[in-house]
Amino acid sequence: MTDCLFCKIREREIPADIVFEDDDVLAFNDVNSQAPIHILIIPKQHISTVNDVDTGDEPIMGKLFSVAKTIANQQGISEDGYRLVVNCNEKAGQTVFHIHMHLLAGRAMTWPPG
Ligand code: 5GP
Ligand code: ZN
Repeated sequence: MTDCLFCKIREREIPADIVFEDDDVLAFNDVNSQAPIHILIIPKQHISTVNDVDTGDEPIMGKLFSVAKTIANQQGISEDGYRLVVNCNEKAGQTVFHIHMHLLAGRAMTWPPG
């Protein structure tokens, strides 16, 4: 997707502070942090929203969780805890339509989220 912000980050057309990368997944710091640690984990393949995930995407969707675990270990937050969030469409607060998992940590989280 040529007009997708996160595809442009994947292609290094827009700079980002990358914390993890492999063949399938990219993770980078959120530009507008909502917690001391706020990392976005994306599949390299463009999927717009959770509504667009199909059964063939199950391996990559599962991989987002294993990468979240790896990053949490690297960041030293596994024991304290962290929150993983995926927003789907406008009412949930999705603003970038390339599916992404937020990894938030470094402060106490409240529930319910706003
Ligand atoms: P959403 O609201 O779609 O769930 O999350 C999108 C996230 O992308 C937001 O937390 C926002 O701060 C972040 N974001 C928007 N533009 C950029 C950017 O250019 N670079 C980075 N690193 N994050 C961005
Ligand atoms: Zn994209």
